[in-house]
Amino acid sequence: MDFKDYIRVIPDFPQPGISFKDITTLLNDGEKYRLAINELKELVSDLKIDLIAGPEARGFVIGAPLAYALGVGFVPIRKSGKLPYETIEAGYDLEYGKDTLAMHSDAIKPGQNVLIADDLLATGGTISTSISLVRQLGGNVVGTAFLIELSELNGRDKLDGFNVVSLVKY
Ligand code: 5GP
Repeated sequence: MDFKDYIRVIPDFPQPGISFKDITTLLNDGEKYRLAINELKELVSDLKIDLIAGPEARGFVIGAPLAYALGVGFVPIRKSGKLPYETIEAGYDLEYGKDTLAMHSDAIKPGQNVLIADDLLATGGTISTSISLVRQLGGNVVGTAFLIELSELNGRDKLDGFNVVSLVKY
């Protein structure tokens, strides 16, 4: 199964020079969406996972069904100001400016094994920030899982030492 056939590539979105990988076309096909989640499940089957954490918004679309398939809990990582209870936060640099991600301060108990899932690995900034949030709470990051990896941006290097799985590479 080549999932690339179901991912739409949009040139010059959201700005000139960026080739955006649009996963909505894959999500739209129930059979292929399920196959993608099941393949990710196989790729992480050797890991001992207590919880999956995923950054908004597309990390929910991959992380939550993967958590359901594995029978483990899901922890949403959100932009600052969205979560209702007490949070911990971590900032990161974007190409232009800064952003902050947040997690509920009681979402992970020390020693729990956490897999972090997102739709796409680009520079690795989002996932590195997610890793630092999990670690602030004493969670043990056992791996990271993506639908798509943009190999030439070398996000994997930023995740040196972590288990990285992806279904599709560009
Ligand atoms: P990074 O932080 O690794 O540079 O960028 C990854 C984040 O940006 C992910 O949360 C992902 O949702 C989003 N992202 C960046 N480029 C793309 C893209 O081409 N397609 C999709 N679907 N998401 C992208």
